[in-house]
Amino acid sequence: MHYLIPLTPIYKLLMILNFCSLSSGSSGNCYYIGNEFHGILIDAGISASSIRKFLKDRNISIQTIMGVLITHNHIDHIRGLEVLTRKSHLPAFTTLNIWESILTPQMKISRDCIRHIPLQQKFHLAGFDIEAFPVFHDAPETVGFHICAGDKKITIATDLGHICQTAAPYLKEANLLVIESNYDEEMLVNGGYPHYLKKRIQSDHGHLGNLQTSVFLADIINDNLSHICLAHLSKNNNTPEIALQTLHQTFAAKGIYLNGNLKILVLNRNIPTEMIRLTE
Ligand SMILES: [Zn+2]
Ligand SMILES: [Zn+2]
Repeated sequence: MHYLIPLTPIYKLLMILNFCSLSSGSSGNCYYIGNEFHGILIDAGISASSIRKFLKDRNISIQTIMGVLITHNHIDHIRGLEVLTRKSHLPAFTTLNIWESILTPQMKISRDCIRHIPLQQKFHLAGFDIEAFPVFHDAPETVGFHICAGDKKITIATDLGHICQTAAPYLKEANLLVIESNYDEEMLVNGGYPHYLKKRIQSDHGHLGNLQTSVFLADIINDNLSHICLAHLSKNNNTPEIALQTLHQTFAAKGIYLNGNLKILVLNRNIPTEMIRLTE
C-alpha cells in the first residue's frame, strides 16, 4: 500500500533564501544569507561587534551562523575576520590561494577556523549549495559566490574589473544578483584621485563602473531575475542616485522598461538593508 506523504511544506521550507546587506562599499563589506534555521556571512569587512549588533537587530543569533565566506584579502572584506573567528568560533571558508594571502603575521586566525574550498565545485553549508567562482581583481585571488537553495539562487560579485566568461554564467543564473557598481566614469576621471589610482580602478583587474554594470545587466535581464542589488559603491566617485540613473538610462536606450517584478536596490555603504526573502 502506498501512503501519500505531504511533501509540500518541507519543499517550501527548503526554498527559503533570505538576504541582507550589513555593509557594502570600500569601507567595509558584509552580507548575510540565511534560511529558517541557519545563515552564512559573505565577507567580514566591518568590525565583529558591528556584525553581531546588526545581526542581533534582526533577531539573528550569531550561534545560527555556520560560517563566513571570504572573497579576497582586501581589508574592506576581512577587517573583522580575526575577532569574529576568535570570539564566535566561526569557521571561515575560502580558497587555498586566498588563505595564503590573508594569513600574515598581523592576521592570526586559529587553525580550527580555517576551511579550504575549491574553485567552481559545489560544497554544502547551512542548507545551501555554494560555489566559489574566480573573478578578475587586483588581489592575489578573488572569488564571487553562487548560493543555491532548491531552485532559488543568489550570486554575489562585489570586486571585479570586468565580467569574464567564467563569471558571467553565475551572474546570469541569479534570482537575486549582488553586483558591483563602483564608480561613475565621469566622476572618477574628473575627481582628485592620482592618475595611477584612476587607471587601477578602471583596469580589467580593478572595479566595475556604473556603465559597465548597466550594460551587462541590460544584456542578461530575464524573467528569473527578481532583485538587482548594486553594491560596493565608491564614496568619492559615485552616488546612489547616479548609479540608478545610469542603470535606467542604459535600460531605456536598449528599449528595456521595467515592470514591477524586478526590484532594483542600491546597497547603502553603512546602513543595513531590510531582509529580502526569496521563496517559491
Ligand atoms: Zn572591496
Ligand atoms: Zn578588493
